[in-house]
Amino acid sequence: MPMFVDTSPPGECIFCRLAAREIPAALVFEDDQTLAFMDIGQVTPGHVLVATRRHAATLTDVTPEEAAAVMQTAHRVARAVQAAFDPPGLTLLQANGAVGGQTVGHFHMHVVPRHADDGIALTWPRKEPGAAVLQDYAARLRAAL
Ligand code: 5GP
Ligand code: ZN
Repeated sequence: MPMFVDTSPPGECIFCRLAAREIPAALVFEDDQTLAFMDIGQVTPGHVLVATRRHAATLTDVTPEEAAAVMQTAHRVARAVQAAFDPPGLTLLQANGAVGGQTVGHFHMHVVPRHADDGIALTWPRKEPGAAVLQDYAARLRAAL
């Protein structure tokens, strides 16, 4: 779990303050629903964050329209990153909740240029529980949709 998590209320979190121009940012793009700006941590050169303009903590708190708007901006920014930095790979990452790796509780997506041996790691422990379990999980999700 991350050491620091910003769980400030709407209007007071880092990204709300950044959107309100109360703290500085290297802005890349903005429209009525989204903002794209350079991540202060620059995991690799060209690392951008795309955030909702409205404060919403996680993916389940944004509207379908906001989710679509963030992906549309991420797509546009990814093409700009490709043109400007020409990385051999690119990863989108969107974390929810401290256990999910989220440190700023205002919905955002990372656009991260990737390079061989760039030090980024996400372990992915496969389980392969079998077809019956997969059918059970799918049924639970169909019922919840
Ligand atoms: P998360 O861990 O929540 O997915 O990502 C939060 C990101 O916000 C981190 O990568 C961190 O570097 C970035 N960040 C935190 N504070 C600031 C800030 O004040 N300005 C900018 N531009 N990025 C920030
Ligand atoms: Zn906020």
